[in-house]
Amino acid sequence: MTFLKLLIRNRLAAAGAVVMALVLLLALITPILPLPDPDVTNTSNRFVKPFSEGHLLGTDHLGRDLLARLMYGTRLSLAVGIAAAIFAAIFGAAIGIIAGYFGGKTDNIIMRGVDMLMAFPYILLALAIVAALGPGLTNALIAVAAVNIPFFARNIRGVTVGIAHKEFVDAAKLAGEGHLRIILTEILPNVIPVIVIAMSTTIGWMILETAGLSFLGLGSQPPQADLGSMLGEARSALITNPHTSIVPGVMILIIVMAINLLGDGVRDALDPRLRSGALTRPRPSTAVARTSEIPKPRETGTMVLTDLETQFHVGQRVYKAVSKVSLHVEPGECLGVIGESGSGKSVTALSIMGLVASPPGVITGGSARYDETELIGAPYEKLRRYRGDKVAYIFQDPLATLHPLYTVGDQLCEAIRVHHKVSKKEAWQRAVALLKQVRIPNAEGRAKVYPHEMSGGMRQRVGIAMALANDPDVIIADEPTTALDVTVQAQILALLNDLRKERGLSIIFITHDFGVVAQLCDRVAVMYAGRIVETGPTQAVLDDAAHPYTRRLIACVPELGEGRRELHAIPGLPPAVDKLPAGCAFAPRCDKADALCQVGTIELEGNGTRAVRCIFPETKLSEDVA
Ligand code: ADP
Ligand code: MG
Repeated sequence: MTFLKLLIRNRLAAAGAVVMALVLLLALITPILPLPDPDVTNTSNRFVKPFSEGHLLGTDHLGRDLLARLMYGTRLSLAVGIAAAIFAAIFGAAIGIIAGYFGGKTDNIIMRGVDMLMAFPYILLALAIVAALGPGLTNALIAVAAVNIPFFARNIRGVTVGIAHKEFVDAAKLAGEGHLRIILTEILPNVIPVIVIAMSTTIGWMILETAGLSFLGLGSQPPQADLGSMLGEARSALITNPHTSIVPGVMILIIVMAINLLGDGVRDALDPRLRSGALTRPRPSTAVARTSEIPKPRETGTMVLTDLETQFHVGQRVYKAVSKVSLHVEPGECLGVIGESGSGKSVTALSIMGLVASPPGVITGGSARYDETELIGAPYEKLRRYRGDKVAYIFQDPLATLHPLYTVGDQLCEAIRVHHKVSKKEAWQRAVALLKQVRIPNAEGRAKVYPHEMSGGMRQRVGIAMALANDPDVIIADEPTTALDVTVQAQILALLNDLRKERGLSIIFITHDFGVVAQLCDRVAVMYAGRIVETGPTQAVLDDAAHPYTRRLIACVPELGEGRRELHAIPGLPPAVDKLPAGCAFAPRCDKADALCQVGTIELEGNGTRAVRCIFPETKLSEDVA
């Protein structure tokens, strides 16, 4: 089980678990141990020092055996603390879930009540409760549980509010499920980890609080021993016979330390966000762990990738998202990168500027050169200077890339001022000019609106304007039109086309749509399972694709005015990149494949302008004419 593994990997938590297990075991077997009766007094034998015969830890002011009292006291303190924690968790969670789930007035009334309880110092409140109920261990337990209920209620309500409006809860309501059922089957499973975490971090606290009440004489009553009352009774002999205080004191220290260490470990191991590594701060640039020399570039251009390899290392698994990808773009050229979803297009694009999140991403080899400068493994400062200034990105979802609380003008200004020392006013003028350049009507006015006030097409134009803000030489566009409708898509493509002609921009255009490639790109590279399977000039590839996969991708695009034609979906799914088969990754879905296709490595072979990774290409590439 991963939970236990994670817990044991955390050394402090493991130590806490071992100590706690020992203490619990001792507490459980106390009645069968050969201990003297803890409550029998023997005044002639008062204050015997520890390590004397018959009394390993000595005796107290009434001559009772301290070891026996310690064992029975620990047993009692643990039982009361744990019981209080369970009560507080159950009642607190119930209150929190009801308040968070029903919201509105119910929430208001319940939470104001909880706030009132929280306004009292907790120990004062506990004292008041015990005073009202009368001293005794059961009442101390009730008091400690009661003062901790608000803590649980607040915590759980917060989590519940976040869940109660999620789509799956709405779906359950629409399906006609009752409130109780929704709470039990939809909400509760989501908050249980939080309850367990809150419990594991508060049990120690509750044991201390119970001990505190007993210390004041309000908890366990003589002659019954618990850790708190032992401390209380030893108080008068603190100076003359310190061992009577030290014995229970050390035990409390050990228990609370062990529980807290264990609790922290449980929290870290249970929290799904911590577990997936999402809360580990990603490094500012992708980790680079080369397994081979930096390869010499074989092509020229503004951006040249050679044998780029990017992997994700998750636990023992290695996902080979990008395997030996080589690409290049010349100034003013547009290169299309095409492939099904999951073929490694985005990871290739993000690797160039070190934008793949690490962990888990690792670049394990290859080179990416911008204008003779190696980017893979370049120092972070250098990458930072190039990002957005020389090489800019346009992402698929502009709503996710724009900040919701700033106007688009401000965000454009920020992009400019990161790389250029210009005044706010100059930056603003430039921002407006950029918006005009991407054909946003009434640019002065639109610069002052927030992202949510714009349409999807407008927002994507803002994304393009931002990419253009610092006059980059290379733009990497990762499916910039996938979320848009076709008319807006056509406008955006025309815009990018004009820009590259005007400015001599190199564009790497990622898409899964051959129609888009045909409109915009000079050359195209087809990716499958992290590898390039075919490259060549767009027209040549479209007219006469060599790789069976490319053929099938092209066959998926409907053609207007060509009469009725059956569209051929590609059967099956791309392989998982952590278990890539030998040979051609497309073989299982290819009707031309035979046994030869499933062994060894199949190389990308070509004639200088075109290349294909296939032993049985659909068309023979002509000998190099150049
Ligand atoms: P696309 O071609 O659709 O842009 P991506 O480049 O996003 O595909 O993804 C390529 C592969 O990398 C996919 O198979 C995906 O499963 C894998 N991948 C992406 N991110 C992670 C991650 N954080 N952990 C493990 N695998 C990942
Ligand atoms: Mg993608």
